[in-house]
Amino acid sequence: MRQTLVAGNWKLNGSKESIQELLKGILAGMSEAKTAVAVCAPYIYIPMVQEILSGTEVGFGSESISEHDSGAFTGEISGSMLNDFSCQYAIVGHSERRTIFGEKDADTANKFAAARKYGLTPILCLGELLEEREAGTTEEVVARQLDAVIGLEGVGALADAVIAYEPVWAIGTGLTASPQQAQDVHAFIREKIAKLDAGVAEKVQILYGGSVNGGNADELFSMPDIDGGLIGGASLKAEDFLAICRAG
Ligand code: PEP
Repeated sequence: MRQTLVAGNWKLNGSKESIQELLKGILAGMSEAKTAVAVCAPYIYIPMVQEILSGTEVGFGSESISEHDSGAFTGEISGSMLNDFSCQYAIVGHSERRTIFGEKDADTANKFAAARKYGLTPILCLGELLEEREAGTTEEVVARQLDAVIGLEGVGALADAVIAYEPVWAIGTGLTASPQQAQDVHAFIREKIAKLDAGVAEKVQILYGGSVNGGNADELFSMPDIDGGLIGGASLKAEDFLAICRAG
């Protein structure tokens, strides 16, 4: 039985004050959470997040990671730097990194490898654009994104990773994939992994992301291959986030 995980992705949001408030609210409601809970924060706030969350049951991590260890890479943050602040997770391949910042499948695979190298759990985002879904190529796109990681790191690497299926057309739009639409892609991902290693397929957590909220989380998380959610907008208010953590 896989543990359900709800992870927040704050993106480019928050301030010192609002994050303190948000974490205080989340911690106050954790006794009712039915899922494991984590938050992924903008780099600059990670030391503060560590201070507030250390010794609690809420995990934390970064929204990205450099594929490089050190050197002349201005503006980048490495896995060893994230280790210095006890991060447990690093999101890699978020669609905003892919579409706005031009990260390719190979870049995502390198970031996935960097996270693992430093003992961080990568949260690997996969998902199709609206036009790709409409063209019937969802599975092809998701398979290509996943193959880049498997090709570099091997299928075994997924055993210690989290996958997040996030249809790009559902992110921040208020449009959620129906539970069945999401389940179909999750099952496809799990079956694809199972063809290479049944044990890894059984173990890997596959989260759904895309306009999840307190009203739709229950139904989504009750699908057999949906093991929780990666949450953007609704992770910015403690009550909204906690409502999702109470589902599943
Ligand atoms: C995300 O950014 O990963 C996400 C799922 O955003 P939202 O929940 O706002 O759709």
